[in-house]
Amino acid sequence: AENLKGRGLEPENIAEAAAFLGSDESKLQGKVALITGGASGIGEATAKLFTRYGAKVIIADIQDDRGQALCKELGSTTISYVHCDVTKEYDVKNAVDFAVSEHGKLDIMFNNAGIIPPLLYSSIFDSEKSHFEKVFDVNVFGGFLGAKHAARVMVPAKSGSIIFTASAATVIGLEGPPAYTCSKHAVVGLTNHLCMELGKDGIRVNCISPFLVQTPMVDAALRSAANKNQAAEWQAAAANLKGVILKPDDIAEAAAFLGSDESKYVSGLNLVVDGGYSKVNPL
Ligand code: NAD
Repeated sequence: AENLKGRGLEPENIAEAAAFLGSDESKLQGKVALITGGASGIGEATAKLFTRYGAKVIIADIQDDRGQALCKELGSTTISYVHCDVTKEYDVKNAVDFAVSEHGKLDIMFNNAGIIPPLLYSSIFDSEKSHFEKVFDVNVFGGFLGAKHAARVMVPAKSGSIIFTASAATVIGLEGPPAYTCSKHAVVGLTNHLCMELGKDGIRVNCISPFLVQTPMVDAALRSAANKNQAAEWQAAAANLKGVILKPDDIAEAAAFLGSDESKYVSGLNLVVDGGYSKVNPL
C-alpha cells in the first residue's frame, strides 16, 4: 500500500469492475424462462439472447422441427423445446409443468406467440367473425392461458415476470386487419388487469409493443397484401422510420430488461419499441 502511495484498492472497487464487465452477460443468470412462439422471429431472437444472458430457456411452439433445430444450433444444455399450441390449455399447462420439473421454478413467462390474418382482411367489410375468432384464439386466449398457468406456479413463489407481445397498433392507427389491432388491445387490457391482480403476489406483468420488425410474420403479411398499394403503404411506413426497420434482437433486449431484476419496480407498462414512429406519426 505504501508503494502505491495510499492508492490501495478496496474490495468494492473490484466488485464494481466485475459488475460492469459481467452486467450484460449475466443479466438473467439463474432465471428460468418459457417463451411461446420461440421457434421464429422475435421469440427465436429472445431465446438466443436469454440463453446468452444466463437464463435456462424453454421454447414452446408448434413448429417442432424449427424449435428442435434451434436448440441443437445453440448446443446449450440450458435450452430445451416443448411442443405447445397456446390455444390448447393442456399444452400450455404441460409446458409450464415441464419448465418446473426441469428447472424447479419459472421466473419469466414470455407470452409472445401470435398470428396476423392476411392483409387481405384489412377492411371491416372484408373481415369475418371467424377471422376475429382465429386471431383472438392465439393472440388473446393463448396469452391468457400462458399467464394463468405461469401464475399458478409464480404465485406460491411470490415472484415472477409475465411479459406479453402486443403491438404498436395499440398506440397508433396502423393499416392492417381490424382483428389483429383488436386482439393486441385485448393483450394490453390483460396486462393492466394482471398487473393489478398479481402484483400483490410479487408478480410483475408488462407488455412490449413493437412496430415493424423484420420477421417471417411480416414477410408473409407483406406477401399477402391485397394489392400493391397496401404493400406500398407498409414500405412507406418503413421509409418514414428513415431505414430503421427493427430487428428481432431489438425486441429481445426489451424482453430481457422486463425479465431481469433491472426492472424490478416496472409493472403494468406497455413498452413501445418503435424507433419513435408512434410519436412522429401520431393518430
Ligand atoms: P413469427 O411468425 O416469426 O413468430 C411467431 C411464432 O409464433 C412462430 O414461431 C409460430 O409458429 C408461433 N405460433 C403461432 N401460432 C402458435 C400457436 N397456436 N401456439 C404456439 N406458437 C404459435 O412472428 P413475429 O413477428 O416474431 O411475432 C411474434 C409476436 O410479435 C407476435 O405476437 C406478433 O403479433 C408480435 N408483433 C410482431 C411485429 C412485427 O413487426 N414482426 C410487430 C408487432 C407485434
